[in-house]
Amino acid sequence: MKKEQLDIIKQFLSGYDGPPVKLMEVCGTHTAQIVRNGIPSMLSDRIRLISGPGCPVCVTVTAYIDRLVELAFKEDTIVYAFGDLLRVRGSRYSLSDAKAQGARVKMVYSPMEMIQAAQEDGSRTHVFAAVGFETTTPVYAVMLEEAIEKKLTNVRLLTSLKTMPEVIRWLCEEDLRTMRSLKEQGKTPGEEGGAYQPVTGFIAPGHVCAVTGSGIFEDLAKEYGLPFIVSGFSGEELLLTIYGLVKDQGKGIVRNFYPSVVTRDGNTDAEKAVDRFFAPCDAAWRGMGVIPGSGLVLRPEFAAFDAGSEDLLEDRLSGGCRCADVLTGRISPSQCPLFGKVCTPSDPHGACMVSQEGSCFNSYNYRHH
Ligand code: SF4
Repeated sequence: MKKEQLDIIKQFLSGYDGPPVKLMEVCGTHTAQIVRNGIPSMLSDRIRLISGPGCPVCVTVTAYIDRLVELAFKEDTIVYAFGDLLRVRGSRYSLSDAKAQGARVKMVYSPMEMIQAAQEDGSRTHVFAAVGFETTTPVYAVMLEEAIEKKLTNVRLLTSLKTMPEVIRWLCEEDLRTMRSLKEQGKTPGEEGGAYQPVTGFIAPGHVCAVTGSGIFEDLAKEYGLPFIVSGFSGEELLLTIYGLVKDQGKGIVRNFYPSVVTRDGNTDAEKAVDRFFAPCDAAWRGMGVIPGSGLVLRPEFAAFDAGSEDLLEDRLSGGCRCADVLTGRISPSQCPLFGKVCTPSDPHGACMVSQEGSCFNSYNYRHH
């Protein structure tokens, strides 16, 4: 983008005095980039950015962590996970706590590390903590292909895989419910004095759309009359997306501002690989409960690879944690009474403070730097 164009956009966004705008990003990398680029400070106070449930670690329920901890303490089992997940607490312990007490937990950068370990150590069961959105699921499909090719029978996945459209539908329905309730009380949404402001547009996740295509948001955009813009990850790209969403208020459309990576139909090879191994299921989201059809589970013909992923629905948030309200955009992280006091990145109380993609983590760092 030319400097003059960027200046016009910045000027528009800082001086905007139209109807209140509330934009939600549903991608942890967008959350981090918005903060790193200082974008909130460039916007008029009539444009509010909120983070939705776009960080996979943040939306994982306590029952899932508890099951991982249980598996890690089994004599013949090793649990593998990406780094962020290790510090997320279950109802009592995190995987890091379990490891400190002697459980077998390994942090890895790729699931393929586990495949190699499973080949070398046939006496143990190797369980991968398969957490993620549409972006990560193809990696697990490749991992399973590899395990089948190598005839490994000691490889398992504990799945907590989520899909985007259903949770966004849930958020839109929540907004409609709240609006109806406000109306019954005679209040106007967005009015001064703190009445609820519904989401007016979505910064659609660039990484997810690289796999699924931007088309997955078309029905939602039409149904709820909201704009979705697929965004890249640089500060300029995000500013352009925010500008587009402010201009497109009230229009039920999908735009793709990340065409170098995202198409309307997505990566069909990756989708086929996922479809071979996984089928839709109901899934539990931290603080949101069970959302129908919002997850993926191993198909029955691959059940031998499952480490017991069914019925991991319980979610016991630790005392005072407001992650549920943060993840649904009802409060900003600093409105949680524990923020920065009991809960910090070095000693996280809730999941949103653990991951580098978590909104509390990013909000804390933004305030302190
Ligand atoms: Fe949860 Fe900590 Fe965020 Fe509060 S500050 S919502 S306890 S992660």
